[in-house]
Amino acid sequence: MPDKLKTAIRDIQDFPKEGIIFKDISPILSDPELLQHSIDLLLKTIEGEKIDKVVGIDARGFIFAAPVALSLKVGFVPVRKQGKLPWKTIGESYTLEYGESTVEIHQDAIQPGDKVLLIDDLLATGGTAAAAVKLLNRLDADLVRVSFLIELDDLKGRDKIDAPVTSIIHY
Ligand code: AMP
Repeated sequence: MPDKLKTAIRDIQDFPKEGIIFKDISPILSDPELLQHSIDLLLKTIEGEKIDKVVGIDARGFIFAAPVALSLKVGFVPVRKQGKLPWKTIGESYTLEYGESTVEIHQDAIQPGDKVLLIDDLLATGGTAAAAVKLLNRLDADLVRVSFLIELDDLKGRDKIDAPVTSIIHY
């Protein structure tokens, strides 16, 4: 039941800056049943699909993407903030409310045609996920689905994502 997860999520007012209500997933992470449940629900979003790689977005996306990859017995690939990956990378920049950010992926992390599931914890404006999707397109991935634990519906982030999108909890 996604409701059990929703009840556990904690709203933190004005974090990291004024006007933002931060969705704190720490209570889910610290409860093994809720954490397992969130992994099970993310697995359900691609039930019956063949997946070759699970890609997670820095940093909270990693927490969910790696266990999903292990359950599927496929590899995990990180999309990271600029300057963190040690090998040859490609990058995509996107605009934030103030300024710009860049995400990167290793050039050899995905083989052309790999069926990919992309995971992040939360979809807000969609800038981060849309940049990750561009990276995957540049590596000729076959992006099967983008799955989120949480979506902030009013921000219409899914309109920016050129792939099927599923979120488990909606606000
Ligand atoms: P966006 O690019 O606007 O869709 O932002 C998505 C990224 O920022 C995700 O990786 C989230 O972890 C983080 N994020 C954005 N807004 C929030 C929020 N209200 N609560 C928690 N995390 C957020």
